Formats: sequence, C-alpha cells, structure tokens
Amino acid sequence: SISGKTVIVTGSNSGIGLGIAREMAKAGAHVVLNSFSDTEDDHKLASDMAEEFGTEVRYIKADMSKGAECRALIEKAGACDVLINNAGIQHVAPLPEFPSEKWDQIIAINLSSAFHTTAAALPMMRKAGWGRVVNIASAHGLTASPYKSAYVAAKHGIVGLTKVTALETAKEPITANAICPGYVLTPLVESQIPDTMKEYGMSREEVIEKVLLERQPSKEFATVEQLGGTALYLCSDAAAQVTGTTISVDGGWTAL
Ligand code: NAD
Repeated sequence: SISGKTVIVTGSNSGIGLGIAREMAKAGAHVVLNSFSDTEDDHKLASDMAEEFGTEVRYIKADMSKGAECRALIEKAGACDVLINNAGIQHVAPLPEFPSEKWDQIIAINLSSAFHTTAAALPMMRKAGWGRVVNIASAHGLTASPYKSAYVAAKHGIVGLTKVTALETAKEPITANAICPGYVLTPLVESQIPDTMKEYGMSREEVIEKVLLERQPSKEFATVEQLGGTALYLCSDAAAQVTGTTISVDGGWTAL
C-alpha cells in the first residue's frame, strides 16, 4: 500500500497536481508539493494538508523549467517512492505566430522536467526496491488539435519517455505509465475560456459545451479526484504488471 511511502508531485499547488496529492495524502502517503513560487500560501497548503490527513506533507520550491532545479527537488525530498510528473503549461497560437520562447518553455516544463526528475528518482527507487513513475500526459499525448503545437509535441514526447522508462525498469519492481486526461476544469483550462469566448463570440457556457467538451463524448469534465484515483490504482499491487502504457480518463475522446 501507498501508506508511509514518499510521493513527489511536480506542479502541485493547483489543479490536477493538488488533487492527486490530496488523494495520496488521504491514502496515508507522505507528500511533497511543488511549484516555482515560494509563498506563505504554498507552505500553508502543505501544513493544512498534513493536518487534514495526518501525514507528512512538505512544500519544496523548484522551477520545473530548469533541469538543475528538477533534480534538486528530488535530492531535497531525500526519498521518492512515487514520482508524479504533472507540472505543465499551455499556449495556443498558430505555428507561424507561435513565440519561440513559449515553445522552449513548454518543452522544458511539460517534457524535459520529467526527464530530469526521472533520472534523479530512479536510483532512489532502485535503492528502496520499489517505485512508480506516473506521468500526467493528456489526450493531446495521443491525438492533436490545431494551435497547440508545443503542448501536443511535449505530450506525445512524454508518452514516449514513459515507454522508455518502463523498458529500462522492466525487470525491477518499478513501473512507469502515463495518464491521459481529457478536459478537467482547472485554472489551466479556466484561463483558456476568455480568449475562446472572444475568438468565437460565444458565451462561457457555449465555449464549455461547443469548444472544450466538443471532443469529449461524455460531455462532462473529468475531475481531479478521478485522476487521483487513477494514480492510486497505478500505485497498487493490481497494477504491478501495468507498465509502459497510457490510461485515458477522457470521457471517450480518444475513442472518437
Ligand atoms: P494548473 O495550471 O492548474 O496547474 C499547473 C501546475 O503546474 C500548477 O501547480 C503550477 O504552479 C505548476 N507549474 C507551472 N509552471 C511550473 C514551473 N515552471 N515549475 C513548477 N511548477 C510549475 O493546470 P492543470 O490543468 O492542473 O494541469 C496539470 C497537468 O495536467 C499539466 O501537465 C497539464 O498539461 C495536464 N492536463 C490538464 C488537462 C486539463 O484539462 N486541465 C488535461 C490534460 C492534461
């Protein structure tokens, strides 16, 4: 069981990362929260969670756009039984206008960070004799949408990295998998709504139904609790032979 194990979740002071961290703490895991900021609120998030679930919860600042800080996060945590690579950002623009700095930043945060954290965490997992790598990819790790070049490239990339990690650990009690969520109503998605309303001249409700959930046949958002549950499953004994694969939590998007 996950109880007493150390779980590091990158990009976890908000959204899916926070939701997964909460499900892990609820199950008795010691949790390391992370983002690039270092505010009182960040540390309070950790102490509140520790109190709520009676486990050890720490907040460690590290900027996932910088390789050295990704590795330092794992070293500072001192243990890493479960690594959840979740930090991610989005930028939407047609290819000719896509800013180069945004491309570099998205590849760094959404893809390269997972390379660095995984490289630093595997030796710790090997020493502990058990480990789980859970990469938060996306339906955009399996399919594409226009105007999301960097995001789709990074998410396809992390699915590839997941497979390599699984092969390099195949003979050990370590697994690596990717979760591919469809739309989840987090700050990342919320922030895309105003621009889309302007672009299509639509109301908020129309944007949600006709644009965001257009390709999600269930017509419902996935929730952060459901993603936490999926991550917990991947950490369970039932999933010991599940490795190098993707699990879609997308209301049927990739079945279309
Ligand atoms: P969010 O904006 O709510 O959370 C992103 C998290 O990453 C935040 O905690 C933020 O502080 C952190 N972060 C951003 N830049 C960072 C950096 N440089 N260093 C460290 N942390 C950083 O977004 P979310 O929707 O919860 O997204 C989380 C992950 O889930 C992302 O990888 C995203 O691509 C993926 N995802 C989201 C959806 C969705 O619909 N929301 C769907 C599929 C995949």
